[in-house]
Amino acid sequence: IQWDKAKGWHDAQVRAYGPLALDPAAAVLHYGQEIFEGIKAYRHADGSIWTFRPEANGARLQRSAERLALPKLPVAEFTESLRQLVAVDHEWVPSAPESSLYFRPFMIASEAFLGVRAAQAASYYVIASPAGAYFAKGVAPVSIWLSEDYARAAKGGTGAAKCGGNYAASLLPQQEAYAQGCSQVLFLDPVEGRYIEELGGMNVFLVYRDGRIVTPELSGSILEGITRSSILQLARDRGLKVEERKVSIDEWKNGVASGEISEVFACGTAAVVTPIGELKGKGFVVGDIDAPAGEVTMAIRQELTDIQYGRAPDRHGWLVRLR
Ligand code: PMP
Repeated sequence: IQWDKAKGWHDAQVRAYGPLALDPAAAVLHYGQEIFEGIKAYRHADGSIWTFRPEANGARLQRSAERLALPKLPVAEFTESLRQLVAVDHEWVPSAPESSLYFRPFMIASEAFLGVRAAQAASYYVIASPAGAYFAKGVAPVSIWLSEDYARAAKGGTGAAKCGGNYAASLLPQQEAYAQGCSQVLFLDPVEGRYIEELGGMNVFLVYRDGRIVTPELSGSILEGITRSSILQLARDRGLKVEERKVSIDEWKNGVASGEISEVFACGTAAVVTPIGELKGKGFVVGDIDAPAGEVTMAIRQELTDIQYGRAPDRHGWLVRLR
């Protein structure tokens, strides 16, 4: 779908996958004026195809658009774009028992203009790809690397938006995590460097032995995950006491060491819910990578996937039928 200042959104079309034609002066190539989303479609046992909370992703795309000075795509158009793609592309090949179709909606500033100002033309696209397991080891606990030298976001920056630049900033620390044998990097807050924010592509939860479940508050520099907000609801439904607040890295380290924190997990659309077995950083390791995945973690994961795949009642009205 194309946008320009004079016509607004226009020219929606579905076409065969292939290269985009872009002017070499397109603003996106020079100033990174780009935003995106990640959302999945799930095939149910009866063959129907559903997506999960598209209005939440559509609203987040609008918030990202606002921060990146891009035009807002109406939420109804966002959901409709997924529906139209599935209408022509619904026979994806399952690559794992719980396979899904991962959508990547994105918007770029397409105006050819080298001056530094918000572009007056933009393009919105959706591509899709079948998705299996996010981590090579499936839902086995993973190791996380604490990045102490880098932040992915800054105070007043774009951390709460889903824009390419945030990910560009996280690639080097992510490589460092891989080099340390870890599969994801953990970032601390950009102001004090004391409070946990999120992983490179997931939000984080700590489960206390006394039944509390704690996640970092929306600090302004972390992404408001749709999975995060769904888990907060499912945890409340289970009678767990939910806390959204500042969580220091010492709280995590000491809580795991003392046994007060019994489980830690990460969550996101791609990885769903993934147990964190150990946290490593310069000169320390906490947790036990060989310990089995936690009970609360796996129960929440099961409940969420059961809703997404239509095996449990959708009591919060989260599913939207695409086909
Ligand atoms: N934080 C970051 C930085 C992410 O890239 C993602 C994935 N979109 C998340 C958190 C989780 O968000 P969601 O649950 O909406 O996928």
